[in-house]
Amino acid sequence: MSDILNNLNIIREKIKIAADKSGRKTDDIKLVAVTKNVSVSRINEVISCGIREIGENRVQEAVDKFNQIGSKVKWHFIGHLQRNKVKYIVKFVELIHSVDSFELAEKINECAEKEGKIQKVLVQVNIYKENTKFGFTSYDEIVNFLEEVIKFKNLSIEGLMVIAPFFKDKGETRPLFKEIRNISHRLKKDIAGLKMNYLSMGMTNDFEIAVEEGSNLIRIGSGIFGSR
Ligand SMILES: *Cc1c(COP(=O)(O)O)cnc(C)c1O
Repeated sequence: MSDILNNLNIIREKIKIAADKSGRKTDDIKLVAVTKNVSVSRINEVISCGIREIGENRVQEAVDKFNQIGSKVKWHFIGHLQRNKVKYIVKFVELIHSVDSFELAEKINECAEKEGKIQKVLVQVNIYKENTKFGFTSYDEIVNFLEEVIKFKNLSIEGLMVIAPFFKDKGETRPLFKEIRNISHRLKKDIAGLKMNYLSMGMTNDFEIAVEEGSNLIRIGSGIFGSR
């Protein structure tokens, strides 16, 4: 068996265990294969193993790969996005996980309108206020942002995304994931008409805990393709 298939089987089994443990359905949890720095041939291999969601964090790399692979998979954009590059990805991405400012949301809405699509996005949160990460740093900031952007016709807010700090003891990520889930519930109550379909949380190091705490979109790179 190939490494990739073997790794995927291990991850799928762990997702199932974490889902069972928390009384959830495995099918409700989407696995995004993060393919940054991964070649097109290895991406095709992961596709042949049943993966249908691909995550990229750089615009140019995402565009190049989309041009070779096309829309047989759904493309997720998970990296920091500059406004002047939005136009290149709105054409083909299913979900942008990393909306971190009003100006970016405004730009995405504008480009989506030109493309005649409604762009699905997630709001990136950074409640631990890490300097190395982007995202909204408080509940009030998120609310203020959402109250403005919920009016945008070509933007659909679908949930929240978080990147947890790396902890040697992965149990330390649990309080963060719990808090994100609570924020999601609170936002749904506080903001009329807001959908919260997705919690994008959990990476190779911490996805089992994320699933136990309610994630339904996990982003895994090195766990599938080996360490970078
Ligand atoms: C690289 C990356 C991942 C995947 O990280 P791994 O630890 O390799 O699973 C997930 N999310 C984001 C935003 C990333 O940049």
